Amino acid sequence: MNDYDSELVRSLLKREGFAFTEDRERADVILLNTCAIRENAHNRVYSHLADLKLLKKQRSLVVGILGCMAQNLKEELTWQQPLVDVLAGPDSYRQLPMLITDAIRSQEEGLDRKGLAVDLSEYETYADVVPDRSDGVNAWIAVMRGCDNFCSFCVVPYTRGRERSRDPEGIVREAQQIADQGFKQITLLGQNVNSYRHGSWDFARLLAAVANVPGIERVRFTSPHPKDFPPSLLEVVAWHPRVCKHIHLPMQSGSDRILSLMNRSYTNREYRALVDRIRTLRPDIALTTDIIAGFCSESDAEFAETYKLTEEIRFHNAFVFKYSERKHTIAARKFPDDILESVKGERVTRLVDLQRRISHEHNRLFIGDTVTVLVEGSSKRSDSQFTGKTDGHITVVWDKSLLPCRPGDLVGVPVRDASPSTLFAHTRPEGREILS
Ligand code: SF4
Repeated sequence: MNDYDSELVRSLLKREGFAFTEDRERADVILLNTCAIRENAHNRVYSHLADLKLLKKQRSLVVGILGCMAQNLKEELTWQQPLVDVLAGPDSYRQLPMLITDAIRSQEEGLDRKGLAVDLSEYETYADVVPDRSDGVNAWIAVMRGCDNFCSFCVVPYTRGRERSRDPEGIVREAQQIADQGFKQITLLGQNVNSYRHGSWDFARLLAAVANVPGIERVRFTSPHPKDFPPSLLEVVAWHPRVCKHIHLPMQSGSDRILSLMNRSYTNREYRALVDRIRTLRPDIALTTDIIAGFCSESDAEFAETYKLTEEIRFHNAFVFKYSERKHTIAARKFPDDILESVKGERVTRLVDLQRRISHEHNRLFIGDTVTVLVEGSSKRSDSQFTGKTDGHITVVWDKSLLPCRPGDLVGVPVRDASPSTLFAHTRPEGREILS
């Protein structure tokens, strides 16, 4: 969502004549688009600010903070970070050209006026702003913004406001423009994407309509909530040939008491039942998840329930996070963050080790098969290799000499080796070691 918001911001600023550079030494304005969901992202922003402090001592520079941290930590950032000139929350990007222009003028006048725009909106969806998309094979479309779920650990309802959905005709029109520009994949975005509703349209209908746009090969969506999976949506995922056979289904915990404290509105049994429904309909749908370890008051026995559920469901992949308290959330107000860091760390390590083993077992089953891959481009590790993703969102790497192709092509890649995260068209020395 943040990448998508950066594309919106680029578009809004370009419209007003601003130009962009990747070279921060040449920039008159530096904007940090921030996330408040995890502590790690938060710490990185403070470390960037420390760097920018030095730069700002040497020359005139406008520094802006955008996004969820601007919204959630406005007092702290305004008063404790004198180098910050502009703060704009996720619903206030339209004001950015004015705020930046004013900050530049203020510096020229030797003043220290700060520009602040952090009001939440019930209506803002930026539906009329065409994002300034980077080249690639995937384009994002935010179909809804905000969230009404108030999971107790999560800051999103406070930083991005209440749920509101874009009109479906505008979304399908944008999907057609994206296809005409040559993008092959669309990812529909929303904090709670499957709660999309606009008039008589629900998310199942929208997903099918976008997948029917000629020229689009694949459609994905993120992030859904397990409570919003009616049979009609599962049918579209299972049977539409261009909707990827992958569902990211955040589990968060396997303990009913912890799920209730998290305000997740489902139980262990209901979550399992949803997984069973998905797998009965189509066993080859890849399931991935998010898990939080060490939530307030989580006992060893409750953690064991999470471990057991993870082991039994056998996700294709899981993103495991240590609970970190976020300011202004329900959990921060009501529950002490009382699990020792060492215990949280140990629980995360156990879950990550478990998931790596399961992911490796899943991936090894592909050895000897040919998988269909959407080519993304050169692999990060080597310019002589291509990388792309399967329908189930597994990364595949192969030598360019083996299979000449271009980004955006759908190609069949033979799988010869597998790690927990990647399928390879060649046998790796380290792979043989793992497999032996
Ligand atoms: S559904 Fe997602 S975005 Fe909404 S409050 Fe819960 S975790 Fe946050």
